[in-house]
Amino acid sequence: MNKVAHYLQEHISGEVMTGNDARKYFSTDSSIFTITPSVIVYPKNENDVRKIARFTWQLAERGRTIPLTARGSGTDLTGAAIGSGVLIVFPSHLNQVKYYDAKTEQIIAEVGINFGKLQQLLLSYDRFIPAAPASMEYSTLGGAVANNASSKYSLKYGDMRKSVQGLRVVLSNGEIIETRKLSKKELNRKLGLSTFEGEIYRSIDTLLEEKKDIVSKSILNVSRNSFGYNLSDVKNDDSSFDLTPLLVGSQGSLGLITEVTMGTSRSRPMTTLLSAYLNSADDLQATVIQLRSLDEMPSAIEVVDGSLLESVAQENPNYLKEVIASPFPKFVLLVEFDTENEHKRHKLVKKASKILSQYSSDVVVEEDKERQKIIWKVREASALYSGHNQGQLNPLPLIDDGIVPLDKLSAFINAIYDQFNREHLQVAIWGHAGDANLHAQPYLNLGQVGDRQKAFRMLEDYCRTIKDLGGSLSAQYNDGRLRGSYLSKIYPEDVYQLFVQVKKVFDPYNILNPGVKIGVSNDEIKPQLRNEYSLQHIYDHLPLS
Ligand SMILES: Cc1cc2nc3c(=O)[nH]c(=O)nc-3n(C[C@H](O)[C@H](O)[C@H](O)COP(=O)(O)OP(=O)(O)OC[C@H]3O[C@@H](n4cnc5c(N)ncnc54)[C@H](O)[C@@H]3O)c2cc1C
Repeated sequence: MNKVAHYLQEHISGEVMTGNDARKYFSTDSSIFTITPSVIVYPKNENDVRKIARFTWQLAERGRTIPLTARGSGTDLTGAAIGSGVLIVFPSHLNQVKYYDAKTEQIIAEVGINFGKLQQLLLSYDRFIPAAPASMEYSTLGGAVANNASSKYSLKYGDMRKSVQGLRVVLSNGEIIETRKLSKKELNRKLGLSTFEGEIYRSIDTLLEEKKDIVSKSILNVSRNSFGYNLSDVKNDDSSFDLTPLLVGSQGSLGLITEVTMGTSRSRPMTTLLSAYLNSADDLQATVIQLRSLDEMPSAIEVVDGSLLESVAQENPNYLKEVIASPFPKFVLLVEFDTENEHKRHKLVKKASKILSQYSSDVVVEEDKERQKIIWKVREASALYSGHNQGQLNPLPLIDDGIVPLDKLSAFINAIYDQFNREHLQVAIWGHAGDANLHAQPYLNLGQVGDRQKAFRMLEDYCRTIKDLGGSLSAQYNDGRLRGSYLSKIYPEDVYQLFVQVKKVFDPYNILNPGVKIGVSNDEIKPQLRNEYSLQHIYDHLPLS
């Protein structure tokens, strides 16, 4: 066992591992990258996390930097849950709900709790967290907060950032802070602290004050965004100040979160689902724009294309049998309303049907819950598509999270089709049409040099498309190693430099998840590409010490 592991073993109460099996297990997340950690730690409590951070800070002061990477369940698609130094794995111990207040409907939970379990618990109180990712059965609350995850319901309810109200965070020097919305008076108290926390408040407040114009340039014209750091929601017009929205979505690069305070939403007792077949990307865009201008936002507007259905029908002939038959339309659009007031919901559904009927002769309105479940299988077919390998070819999370302004949705779809055609690759598109956030995954073999080159060519091409359309590269999965180098290409240079300064304020020695988000170059990540791609670790148990 190396010296660092030895020190940690003597000073913390959680487990410390350096065995080859554990290091191999934690050398991948759900991205196309691999990095083997030196040491793995399962912290028993927040004090362990504090001690680890304190220790690496003191080493850094003496010139030796050991990276700290926080890890939930490793379902991250961008290479942000792997690292070469100490991997801090939260789910083994820090996994409890601390408090649920039925009056304020607020929940406080430790970061390592399984998100699916948390959601189940909330449902027993008729509440839920709308931004829970599709991967929630396999992932943690902390990972969703750190990635600013979102879901199909984020169209109406917003992303994780919207629900998170406060955090407990271990800073890079081991200090523990609590963040929440502060009044001007409370902020002044923070500004006067002589601690690292005080330094952070002072520096961020000054940066945001002096660089207001640059902060406003960091706002992209899209309805959700996890690309870069969120600076625009920290300082508000009412003079309040909150570091929470900045830390949410920071992928463990600004602090180690140990506890989350969140608001919850009322679970949705009644929904109406509409489905329609559309023949062109232009019709899809026109429909979505009109649907979004209804008096109340639908709870979901989702799309899958005919190529995806064709592919799934070939591989799993029974899956779509009772839902939809070949020949498949160009696009299937699903629109859901969860407005509780029945009269209001019916009025919205009537208007939505009218909009859909302008472009589709196959509009179906479904009130029955069981039938709705069957119709949703069309959208859920994407999980079969992205979970299926063709021999050595795997569908890769590479260019799967772009989001554009709504009036560019059709151009975005056509650009994706063109890109795949140019590369002679099978193409399928699915995603959150209501936000113009689309997923597409090329089938490539990372064991082949040609396909490795193709992967980066596609990434470059995709970035150009997103920039031309005025969008963001990441709506929900975040930047990590995969998209970090494109921050300076999508955002103006002064915005990127502001991100760099923010990172320096929180993490002056670059200890926290280096190589993620800030300071990433494609030359650095190319050698980190995996030779094979698999999601097997998601289903395996955590290694025991
Ligand atoms: C099949 C599949 C489907 C998915 N569907 C969705 C989806 O619908 N929506 C969506 O948004 N995402 C989705 N994802 C991406 C991913 O699952 C989510 O972002 C998830 O919330 C990550 O949780 P995790 O516990 O696996 O985090 P990890 O992968 O372990 O970590 C994610 C990031 O969070 C950081 N982190 C983890 N814990 C902490 C902490 N305590 N403090 C600071 N930083 C921390 C890590 O360093 C890393 O940067 C999907 C992934 C897969 C494989």
